[in-house]
Order: sequence, then structure tokens, then C-alpha cells
Amino acid sequence: MPSLPDRLHRLEELARDLWWSWTPDARNVFRRLDYPLWRLTAHNPVRMLKLVEPATLARAMADSDWLALYDGAVARLDATRAARGTWCERECPDLAGRSIAYFSAEFALHQSLPIYAGGLGVLAGDHCKEASDLGVPLVGVGFMYPQGYFHQTVSADGWQEEVYEKLNWTDAAIEPAITTDGKPCVTAVPLGSRTVLMAVWRVRAGRVHLYLLDTDLEENAPWDRELSARLYGGDRETRVQQEILLGVGGVRTLKAVGITPAVYHLNEGHAAFAVLQRIRDLCEKGWAFEAALEEVRRTTVFTTHTPVAAGHDAFLFHLVEKHLAGAWGELGAYRERFFALAHYDSGDGPMFNMTALALRTASAINGVSALHGDVTRRMWHAVWPDTPVERVPIRSVTNGVHIPTWMSAEIRALLDRYLGPDWLEHHDDPGFCDAVVRIPDEELWEARQSLRSFLFHFIRERARYRWTHRGASASHIVASGTMFDHNALTIGFARRFTGYKRPELVFADADRLANILNAHGRPVQILFAGKAHPADDIGKHHLQRIYRRVLDPKFGGRIAFIEDYDLHVAHFLVQGCDVWLNNPRKPLEASGTSGMKAAINGTPHMSIGDGWWAEGFTGDNGWLIEGPADPNDQGAQDWADAQAIYTLLEEQVVPAFYDRDAQGVPHRWLQIVKQSIRTVVPRFSTRRMVKEYVRGMYQPALGQPVTK
Ligand SMILES: *Cc1c(COP(=O)(O)O)cnc(C)c1O
Repeated sequence: MPSLPDRLHRLEELARDLWWSWTPDARNVFRRLDYPLWRLTAHNPVRMLKLVEPATLARAMADSDWLALYDGAVARLDATRAARGTWCERECPDLAGRSIAYFSAEFALHQSLPIYAGGLGVLAGDHCKEASDLGVPLVGVGFMYPQGYFHQTVSADGWQEEVYEKLNWTDAAIEPAITTDGKPCVTAVPLGSRTVLMAVWRVRAGRVHLYLLDTDLEENAPWDRELSARLYGGDRETRVQQEILLGVGGVRTLKAVGITPAVYHLNEGHAAFAVLQRIRDLCEKGWAFEAALEEVRRTTVFTTHTPVAAGHDAFLFHLVEKHLAGAWGELGAYRERFFALAHYDSGDGPMFNMTALALRTASAINGVSALHGDVTRRMWHAVWPDTPVERVPIRSVTNGVHIPTWMSAEIRALLDRYLGPDWLEHHDDPGFCDAVVRIPDEELWEARQSLRSFLFHFIRERARYRWTHRGASASHIVASGTMFDHNALTIGFARRFTGYKRPELVFADADRLANILNAHGRPVQILFAGKAHPADDIGKHHLQRIYRRVLDPKFGGRIAFIEDYDLHVAHFLVQGCDVWLNNPRKPLEASGTSGMKAAINGTPHMSIGDGWWAEGFTGDNGWLIEGPADPNDQGAQDWADAQAIYTLLEEQVVPAFYDRDAQGVPHRWLQIVKQSIRTVVPRFSTRRMVKEYVRGMYQPALGQPVTK
């Protein structure tokens, strides 16, 4: 990193704390320093500081407005780190001086740190950011995948191709983690009969730090260096080893850096081997196995995220046995007892099931929406065979999104003006957002129009880059949305391409859809985005069939596919579309969060009553897709749901959007937009969610009474 002038010596520190990414004034420090470079680096200040010209820095130093912005951001960063007067300090004195370890295989904090695949990572990232804002003493544990998740391109025939890029370490906001004796932390984990070493990176996200494990060290054998190369990349054998590294290695790493968590939160079953290391540690201090297990259970919190069976890792026992061979220590005498904790038969014979292990070793367990809580109690009833299903000890904490991360500057400015400058601090108070109805329609509409045009500008500039530099074909450019009409009603559908999300549902009756899209004077257009898992050919076929529709002239160039869905693309889509469509096969969507991101920006949700929408739909804040239920015939259900979508579009959505006054303002539409913001901001924000985790799950695990 080139050295910075003295006056700006803290600029690098600001760039290396991802706190900047959700703090508007800190963002603006970089945005205004060099806007073309900000765009070129996809908003990566660490990379910007490597590339910025000395003349640019000199110009900034002569600009008193910019300097004031910089000084203000640095002062705020210091105040944030000092953590005085936070919600947690006020409301949870029992958490003072304690820490909560949050284990997750993925974290989506920012697009410059590509260690996430989708919703699970976004939830983890948003949880960390909110914990920082509230002053909750959380510390994250995960992987620093050198190649991260793949980048997606689509061939001329619509087939997904995966491109892995090795992350340039010096472009990422990471730093080596340091042990209590001041050395770079390297964690050793026994795998089978050998030992694998992991470097540990630290990421700063305001008050929350993440510790990320990385096996790409010269001391390791070549195949071990690859273990943490990719997120969800390898086969079963790689997967079980990754999970041992995360669980066992994560616990060891925290010890090495001097953190003694009071509570361990397992985000999904991937990190459940953490309990093995913890029980072992207690046994080696002289605890009996059963007592150690009880103690670990008392302090373990577990969140499960999907009712889809394939989403729960299960391994053949011999595979686990082979790779755990060196990890037992004093626990060796209790091997059978430990294996029994993970024993589960989901129909293919008994397996070592990571979810079952977590369920049996946690004292507080939750699903991620009310409906998902119900489904999960039924799904895992066999773990509590003597308990009636409604008393199975699994509760729900409905997901949320981090408002400062996902709300556009345009909508935020309107709320600042009409709700008062401290609205963000109080946004989860019921009723606080009611004043949204006071925003003048003209101003709200102007913001909505701007957001749509930012999205189209983004699409066009990406297409231009591909056309100019990547030799993209003309049909590719058309497919990416360049023929889209800036004033037309735009529907967004962006999510993983997997069967239960029914990505092709809207094409069930192609003629009826074409009529809706091409209606004279009231056009509708649809933007698709999303990745299929690299090993999921069925998902790739869904994508391909959609791509063929995109290129079909029958739809008038009003359907597009945006490649390489990630956090960056997601921001433009959820803010710039007019309607956010979600049509999963109920009840397989545990929660879903992209619809929340859209709704808080005034992009109302149109969804099956599954996941969060089963509790979020109020009748006037979006639309409920509700084909007559046909539990015994999937084909009939799909057809009925598709008909329900067409009818909603024809009778409600399109007429409301195009019903304008003389100035072109759609007042009826804006009522729905306002209700969307008003009802979703307070209830589906991570502020409400993290407070629920703290009060309902973390504080009880401290062994002390809940304060509120
Ligand atoms: C929010 C988000 C998701 C999760 O969205 P769902 O509604 O759960 O499908 C996935 N990927 C990205 C990039 C996101 O931003």
C-alpha cells in the first residue's frame, strides 16, 4: 500500500474497517475522493488506496468539504469503537465483558470479500453488522476461501459457466490475527493421522471482528492447501474435512487469540464439530462426559435454515471416523457416545447428521420464520421421540435485514426528512415508522424513478463493458436488459436456481404472460438473476430454459437475465425494481430475505404466503399469490399459482402502477409503496431480530435471568 500523506494517515484504517460500508458519511469519503475509481473497483476502498494518484489525494487535502467529511468519519469510527451508550450497554449489563462466538460457513459483509454464496451468508453478515450497531459483543468465526464462490457467466445457449478467481489478498479488508503472545495466529487441527495448519485472518466490522480460517499455507500438503479454497466446492470428503476445520479449528483459534466465549451460536449445522472440541476441553479439565455435554449444551445456541432435506449435511459414519481419528484426545473413551449425538436416519439409513448433532447439543434452537419453526418441529420430531410435536423445543426468530446496508440513500433521505433524524435509532419501535404516510407522493415517486434509472444505468454500463472488453455477442447484450424501457413496470426475480423456488413458474402460460408484458401503453418487464449450485445440473437447466425465453422475440425483449448475482447486483435490483416476485413451493422457503430488502426500499413484495411473507403480508403492503391449494398434485398446484400471478398482475398490479394523475404520479401505487416501507422496516429488520436473539437465546445461555 503506498504511504499516505500525514494529514490522511487514518484513511487506510477507515478503508480496512467494513464499518464504512454501512455508514453513509464514511462511504462518501471514498466515493467523493475519486468517483471513477470508486466505480472501477466496485466500491473497494482498500483497492482504491492502492490505485489512487497522489495528485488526487493532494486535491482532496485542499478541499475543505472533503476534509470535514474525512475528519467526521474518523471521529465517528473512534466513537463506534469506544462503544459507549449502546443498546447493549443500557439493556444487557450481564453481557458486559462477555463474548458470543458466531460460527458460520459464510459471511456476506461486502462484495469485496466474496466468502458467501447466498442467503445464509447475507443473514450472517447482517447479524454481525447489527450486533456492532447495538454493541452486542459478538465475534464471528468462518473461512477465508482464497477462491471464494464462483463468478457466473452464461454461454450463448444459456448454460451456466463457473469462473473461479483467486482473490488478491492485498485487495481485501483483512489482516493477520494475532495471538495473545503477539504472534501471527496459526491454528493446528488434527485431520485423520496428520495435522493441518490454518492461517487466521481478522476482519473488522465496526465493533465486531471476524476470524477467518485459511489452509493455504506452504507447510501443508498441496491437497490440504486446497481444503479451504472454495465455498461448497468439493466432494463429501472435502466437505467433512472443512467442517472439522471450522468447528474444531474455530474453537482452538478463539482460545489462541484470547477470546473465551460465554455463548456459542452455530449458524447452520456446518460448524457443529465445535461441540466436540469444547466437550474435549472440559473432559481434559477433569469433567465427566455427561457433565461436560450438559455444560456445552447450556451455552450453545443453534439456528437451522432450511426445510429442504438436502440442505442438511449428513456423512457416512466411516468418513467421519476416518477424519476425526486424531481429534479425540481424552474424549476417545466416549467416541460411541459422541457418535450417538449425531445419529440420524432420514430414510437412507443411519448417518452422521450435522443438524442432529447441533439439535442434541444446543439448549436454544430456532427456525427462521414462524412457519419455518412449525415445519422444523415436525421435520425433526424424531430427535425427541417422547415429546408431542407441538412441544418439540424449537422456536422461531424471524429473519431480518440490516437497514443501513440495504436501504438506498434516496429512501433514507426521505425518512430522515419525514420521520426525524433519529428514526434509524428507533426504527424497530412499533409505530415509529407510521409517519411514512406523510411523505408527499411526488417526492416518493421521484425517488422511486431515480432508483429504477440507477438500475438501468448499471445494467447498461455492465453490458457496455462486456461488449467492449469481453467480446460479448449482440444477443448477449440484448439478454442483459439493454432494451428495457426506463418507465415500464419492472418485476425482479433474483435467487438461487433450485427446484423449490420454481424459477420458471411465471412461464406456465407463455401466451398469457406475453400479453401482459407487451400490453400497449402498459408494458411490463421481468429481470431474472441468480446462480445454480455448480454441481446442480437441474438448477442449470432451469436457468437455461429461462435464458431461452429471454431470447424469444415473442416476449419483445422485455425479459432479461443479469449475470453473476452477488451483493453488488442485489443492491441495484432490490432498490430499482418496482415489484419483487417470489414463488417458492410452500413450505420450502424457510424465510427469504431479498423480499425484505426490496420492501424497505418501496419495492413491494408479491409472493406465495411462505417464509417471512406468511407473517409479513398485511393486505395492503404488497400481494399474496394464492392459487387454490392442491397438496397432492404438484403440477396442478404450479398451474394454479401461475394463474394467480397473472390475475394479480392483470387486475391489481398493472392497473395501480399505470393509474397516473396529470403530472404522471401514480397515487394508488404509492399507497402500497408506503405501506410496504411502513410495515416491513420495523418488523423485518435485524435490529428486531438481534434483540430477540440476545433476549431470548444469548442472555438465558449466560445462566442469568433475562433482564427484559
Ligand atoms: C439477500 C440475498 C440472497 C437471499 O435472498 P432470498 O430471498 O433468501 O433468496 C441471496 N443472494 C444475495 C446476493 C442476496 O443479496
